[in-house]
Amino acid sequence: MMSQDLYAVIGNPIAHSKSPDIHAQFAWQLKQNLHYERLLAPLTGFVPAVREFVLRGGKGANVTLPFKLEAYALATQLTPRAQAAGAVNTLRFDGDLILGDNTDGVGLVADIVRNAGVNVKGKRVLLLGAGGAARGVILPLLDQAPEELVIANRTESKAITLAAQFAQSGVVSSAEFHALQRPFDIIINATSASIAAEVPPISSLVFGDGALAYDMMYGKDQTVFMHFAQHHGAIVRDGLGMLVEQAAESFFVWRGVRPNTASVFAALRNKLA
Ligand code: NDP
Repeated sequence: MMSQDLYAVIGNPIAHSKSPDIHAQFAWQLKQNLHYERLLAPLTGFVPAVREFVLRGGKGANVTLPFKLEAYALATQLTPRAQAAGAVNTLRFDGDLILGDNTDGVGLVADIVRNAGVNVKGKRVLLLGAGGAARGVILPLLDQAPEELVIANRTESKAITLAAQFAQSGVVSSAEFHALQRPFDIIINATSASIAAEVPPISSLVFGDGALAYDMMYGKDQTVFMHFAQHHGAIVRDGLGMLVEQAAESFFVWRGVRPNTASVFAALRNKLA
């Protein structure tokens, strides 16, 4: 048997990761001879874990919590979207070269535009949160030319900083949660509030007619944010599609071929149920 190319998802914890399952399905679909494993790196040992993985023949890796910033620092070359995000979720190893990329943002946009069928162009977009996930999606969202992008965060200073940082890339501003008293077309929850079953303190007025409310979190049940948004007339969607789409983009970065995501998404949804 020809030797298999080696890939991994590196994080801590990592046991819960769905990435090995997703990439195994992509590889099967596209007849790619590869093995994708889970790699638990010690909290203080990310870089040695990556080096050891490369010595074992690792060709690429996904990076998840809490190592996305360390992966950014480790990369010898960064894509513009990784640079803008200030974080890396995809590494590709070519000899001494370590390419750092960030596919979270394009994953979100692909899920909204292609899968949910909602164009971002010309729309009023509200982004809740200013952590790693929010940061990664700002440039890909602005690339779609929305009418405006407003960033709101519990710690307001972080939203102000992000809006200033991306001012050259589109119409972007920041606002306090409580100051948001007008409708938007797309409302994206990039906070981790849903994990604690909390909803950011926003007015129901943000859900414009036919608005899409997107929670980056996913699970068996709808999040409290999705319940709240649906109750106020929004169409809701969770982050499972983003997860599959960011994986597909990483697969493309490594292998140069694009998986079909619909069947993989459906299989994952079934397993969650
Ligand atoms: P971070 O820890 O980097 O950021 C957390 C953000 O949530 C901050 O803006 C924080 O505000 C805010 N926040 C936390 N608790 C609350 C609360 N109770 N009310 C209001 N705001 C709150 O996390 P990430 O950015 O990495 O992840 C955010 C979410 O996105 C997670 O749920 C994660 O699972 C999901 N995610 C999903 C992906 C997918 O593929 N579907 C990919 C990546 C992330 P403050 O600045 O004030 O602390």
